[in-house]
Amino acid sequence: MKQFRRALRLAFRRPGIVAACWATSLLVAVFWATNLLAVWPIVDAVMHGESIPSWLAKEVAEQRATIARLDVESEGLSARLAEADAGAETASELRFELANLRETQEHAQQKIDNIAWVQPTAERWLPDTPFETLLYVCAFVLVGTIIKNLFRVANLVLVAQLGETVAYELRKAYFAQVLRLDLAEFSDRGRGDLMTRCTSDLGHVGQGVQVLFGQAVREPLKAIACFAMAAWFSWRLLALTVFVLPIAVLGIRWLAKSLKRANRRAMEELSGVFESLTETLGGIRVIRTFGREAGESDRFNQSLRQLYWRRMKIAGYDSLASPMTENLGVAMVVTAAVAGGYLVLNRETDLFGVKISDTALTHGQMTAFFAMLAGMGDPARRLSGVFGAIQRASVSAERVYAVLDRRPAIADPPSPTPLPTEWKALRFEGLSFQYTPDRLTLEDVSLEVKAGETIALVGPNGCGKSTLLSLPPRLYDPSEGVVSIDGIDLRDVSLDDLRGRIGVVSQQAQLMNLSVADNIAFGRPGATHDEIVMAAQQAHAHRFITERLAAGYDTLVGPGGGRLSGGQRQRLALARAILRDPELLILDEATSQIDVESEQLIHKTLTAFMRGRTTLLITHRPSTLTLADRVVVMDAGRVIDVGTPDELADRCDLFRRLCCQPLRESA
Ligand code: ATP
Repeated sequence: MKQFRRALRLAFRRPGIVAACWATSLLVAVFWATNLLAVWPIVDAVMHGESIPSWLAKEVAEQRATIARLDVESEGLSARLAEADAGAETASELRFELANLRETQEHAQQKIDNIAWVQPTAERWLPDTPFETLLYVCAFVLVGTIIKNLFRVANLVLVAQLGETVAYELRKAYFAQVLRLDLAEFSDRGRGDLMTRCTSDLGHVGQGVQVLFGQAVREPLKAIACFAMAAWFSWRLLALTVFVLPIAVLGIRWLAKSLKRANRRAMEELSGVFESLTETLGGIRVIRTFGREAGESDRFNQSLRQLYWRRMKIAGYDSLASPMTENLGVAMVVTAAVAGGYLVLNRETDLFGVKISDTALTHGQMTAFFAMLAGMGDPARRLSGVFGAIQRASVSAERVYAVLDRRPAIADPPSPTPLPTEWKALRFEGLSFQYTPDRLTLEDVSLEVKAGETIALVGPNGCGKSTLLSLPPRLYDPSEGVVSIDGIDLRDVSLDDLRGRIGVVSQQAQLMNLSVADNIAFGRPGATHDEIVMAAQQAHAHRFITERLAAGYDTLVGPGGGRLSGGQRQRLALARAILRDPELLILDEATSQIDVESEQLIHKTLTAFMRGRTTLLITHRPSTLTLADRVVVMDAGRVIDVGTPDELADRCDLFRRLCCQPLRESA
């Protein structure tokens, strides 16, 4: 609930809307109860052939008659009291009876005073025939209902605005946070889970805000208005009917806890379903080619089944809420019907010796009292949905804030050291790195790369080459050791300053669902069209862009660049890096999918582009290795040799096995 309260605080940033929500809720409640009150004059006046003014006059006459009758009775009692022995038991009984009579007289007088207050207005404005009175009351109910519904519509729109505003603000903050999160979070949590939190969970939070500012205020206010009216008719009779409340409170508490637990599990299952879905959509080619449709369907169905049962459990709890409140309402009405019916039918004011009303209740008052109880029942029934929505929102808010509160380990230092404009060396010193606590991926790696030098990394699959190259742009920080530029630890440099000097082309060549031109300019927004075309020409992408793509540089490449071939994507990624013109270039098997003929052309470009630029590259192609000044051979997370390709060909067995086999070139 604590996290949901944080989300609610966002709603209070719009105090005007919050106040308008509350005001409209209050007006809905007032009109709700006042409309129900209309049954009173219908039963007591219209049904008895009276108009409201004549009914009021009759009521005054009746109360006066009561006062006069009680005057006579109290005179008799006073006389008997004077005769009785002052200390005798009968005297105290007589005194008690006399006090009761006076109290009833006072109430009758009070009633006359109250009627006298409205009587002139009623006589002036209200009709004097029963049928016209009925028409007036009906018109009052109709207009009252229309006004109530207008306020209700305004209230619904306002609360929707609050809910959507909170969801919008949180989604914005969530997206910004996801962009900052450490990469480890993506592999730990999974993309499906991160997506569920942004879509489904935040949807629940928004709905929870709507319910809390809408239904959760409006319906109790309606119930309170009816409660107050019912109490006005007879608070003692009302007290008799609300004995069921403690049972309801216990039931609701149990339900709220169970709902919260069930919702938490359902959201976890939903994350699993999203996870399977994103994985399947991303790997549809592999699934097809390996004929794994049935297997993947089974896996997905399993997650779906789990979700189905969780949802059924929630539906079960949800369905309990409504009957519980309905039973409570019926119990109240039944108690009131029996007790009130007895009082009205017998013109009594006491029940089992307990005073229920000061004067005997009329049929109209009792009917209005029942109407008020029914008027409390409807909001109570509507409130039953509120528990589920708030429990769901509370669980979802916890899941959302768990991500929002995450402090990324890789962040700007408090006072960053600027990198020199012209630097001399990039150093990896005594580096160790582990993705998981149980295994070292890099172990005691030390390497110095001079500015302008080209270093190639070779080594068997999984030996840690890509991991090592993810350290300079601080995609990860080393577990031990330091990566530095001219002695400045990269952790002391601002991320913008550092990453602004680095260009990366990786094997996957990830593109965005933008136009070709926008993708090339991704690392240098604001580049001119001529600069973009020049970069594409250098990456040997210009020809396929202009000849093969329907809209040339304006062609949309599809999500992840899916409408292009692997080689085309790599050329665009290369053009993107060329346009960025970085001081440190990182090529992670950047030309692995480019055909041999084009690669020779690209080599020429790369040779020119890498001249005087510090470059770290991973490749196993001997032709690409010729671009390197030095080659670093890695195995099992360690550097085992460093030298020129010729030196290594002479002395390093692993290098020869990896790079000197004739077939490798075309592999
Ligand atoms: P390849 O030549 O196949 O690209 P590589 O030498 O570049 O391999 P890395 O990608 O650096 O190897 O991976 C080194 C090791 O770290 C591998 O054993 C891999 O399983 C593990 N690894 C890589 N990424 C993660 C990750 N996000 N979480 C956990 N382990 C990882």
